[in-house]
Amino acid sequence: MDEPVEIKKLDEAVINRIAAGEIIQRPANALKEMIENSLDAKSTNIQITVKNGGLKLLQIQDNGTGIRKEDFVIVCERFTTSKLREFDDLQSIATYGFRGEALASISHIAHLSITSKTCSEICAYKANFVDGKLQGAPLPTAGNQGTIITVEDLFFNMSVRKKALRSPAEEYQKISEVVGKYAVHNSKVGFALRKSTANNDIRTPPDSNHVENIRIVYGNSIARELVEFEVENELLRFKAEGHMTNVNYSSKKFIFLLFINHRLVDCQNLKKCIDQVYSTYLPKNGHPFVYLSLELDPVNVDVNVHPTKHEVHFLNEEQIVEALCAALETKLLKSNNSRVFYTQAKLPGVQVETLPLKDSDNTPNKVNPKDLVRTDASEQKIEKFFGTPVEKGKSSTSSSKSRQSQGMSASLISKVTKGDTELTSVLELRKSVEKSCHRVLRDVFAQHVFVGVIDVSQALIQYSTKLFLCNTKKILYELLYQFVLYNFHNFGLISFSKPLPIYELALQGLDLPEVGWTPEDGDKKELAQKITEILTEKGEMLNEYFSMNISEEGQLSSLPLLLDSYTPDISGLPVYVLRLATEVNWESEKECFDSFAKETALYYSQMSEDSAWEGNDWKWITEHVVYAAIKEYFIPPKKFIDNVAILEIASLPNLYKVFERC
Ligand code: ADP
Ligand code: MG
Repeated sequence: MDEPVEIKKLDEAVINRIAAGEIIQRPANALKEMIENSLDAKSTNIQITVKNGGLKLLQIQDNGTGIRKEDFVIVCERFTTSKLREFDDLQSIATYGFRGEALASISHIAHLSITSKTCSEICAYKANFVDGKLQGAPLPTAGNQGTIITVEDLFFNMSVRKKALRSPAEEYQKISEVVGKYAVHNSKVGFALRKSTANNDIRTPPDSNHVENIRIVYGNSIARELVEFEVENELLRFKAEGHMTNVNYSSKKFIFLLFINHRLVDCQNLKKCIDQVYSTYLPKNGHPFVYLSLELDPVNVDVNVHPTKHEVHFLNEEQIVEALCAALETKLLKSNNSRVFYTQAKLPGVQVETLPLKDSDNTPNKVNPKDLVRTDASEQKIEKFFGTPVEKGKSSTSSSKSRQSQGMSASLISKVTKGDTELTSVLELRKSVEKSCHRVLRDVFAQHVFVGVIDVSQALIQYSTKLFLCNTKKILYELLYQFVLYNFHNFGLISFSKPLPIYELALQGLDLPEVGWTPEDGDKKELAQKITEILTEKGEMLNEYFSMNISEEGQLSSLPLLLDSYTPDISGLPVYVLRLATEVNWESEKECFDSFAKETALYYSQMSEDSAWEGNDWKWITEHVVYAAIKEYFIPPKKFIDNVAILEIASLPNLYKVFERC
């Protein structure tokens, strides 16, 4: 029989490394700790740089209080902290870090250096750390107020861990989730995250707000459907506030940002319960977006439960979860029930009442048979009654005049709904779109069922028990205008197989009778030359912001893709070029973007019966592209009530009244 193997105490460094690996399981954990440190240090600006998913480099720079030069000696030792003095302090701790373990851990499994400057020092100091120990005296160096922590070669001495990690892309994804969530919660602090090789992937301005940051990080399709909530419960001693999507929004994945006492945590019980609430209202397998900041009496939270401080438990968890979810459900129902509608019929001869979607309380109404209508879009459409139905993919003669044959081909690149921009002018324009939103009409559009086309500029939709006549052209114009603003800087391309000379386009435009050129306007060739110069000079800007590629030689090679599967009518291009040069205000930034968006929307919204996309004709495009986008994204302006872009032409209860009399 073999002798038993002698038991030996592990080497100190190995023990520390194992312990560190418990705390820092992946780059995103390390980053979370460092972000919390920066927030604890009262930073208002935090910049993160990442190389190779954080495995090669993870750097965070803040403008906080900094670390005192004298403290460099112990800052990376285990259990050194400026935040906790006694065990009991744990109960009322207001800062994020509390164990003094993060930096120590990182220094055991990565190459760590710190550069920091406090307000009382005239320069910054820099030092390297190995296994918790400072290497040599901190050296004076140039640096701004605040701290830069550089973590290189994370897990370099833990090959098993390194192998267990997924791809750098996946690690980067986790990092970006962490940054996005902190950016939303700490909206007064500016965050920037970038891969060292690319531009900023997340960038939120300082002094922003939650909704704006949700827009920046998660996109407008979420931001525009948010319901704000605030719940306070004295009995259970909790306070919750945040934003959740209404029932118009539904996604395959539940995006849940949970902060308990300002710490990013997981709480499976709470998550499940909220998802349950939504499951009643969302389509099957649909989930919401919820940002929830929960404040509990610190005495009742056990933040000390898990080394990564992730999954949190608290006293009275079950009751609090239940009470909170009930309050959220009430709020959710209210947001979709209390509506006042005041559109007035403008069609002569059609008797229409104002939409009486009054504020109703939450008691579910008994449904009268007269209120029951078909709302399944997949059922038969009105066109069934008019002759041959239009089938998807079946090209009619008119659509055979395809884009390709006109030298136009849309290249891949799908629409990005997350136009991340910092330009105040664009933000202001977006804001005024949102401010003028007619909320009830928005619900009508967001929840409509498409009934059928009447012609290229009119269609019928149904909402609730009412039928509406829509001016597709007017609606499409507004929708495209919004797309230009919201996808600013972020467009896909419609690229031409052969660049088109602007000069020729302008000449063609001037020849068109509707342009109304007269000899007083000047020589056509000179005008065309001028137009080419104006647009070529703005080429760089147009390319960067609007994906409109104009070469120095005045050749146009691409247009922005505003809406997937939708290309503007090429025959309108000459007029568009003329109008861009003459109608856009190139002098002031905001007016420039506004007028550019208007001109572009005007051109793109001119659908004709020749419009086609990959063999699908205008009818198909109207239903499956235009109205589908209207349903998902449209913010209807209040002016629609006056300019008859949408008209109620029948309501089922009224029709019943008529039939009853017969
Ligand atoms: P903890 O945050 O639990 O105190 P850490 O290991 O995360 O432990 O940090 C140790 C100490 O280093 C902190 O208590 C703080 O004094 C200092 N520190 C770390 N990062 C920063 C920073 N970005 N700005 C200022 N001080 C910092
Ligand atoms: Mg910390």
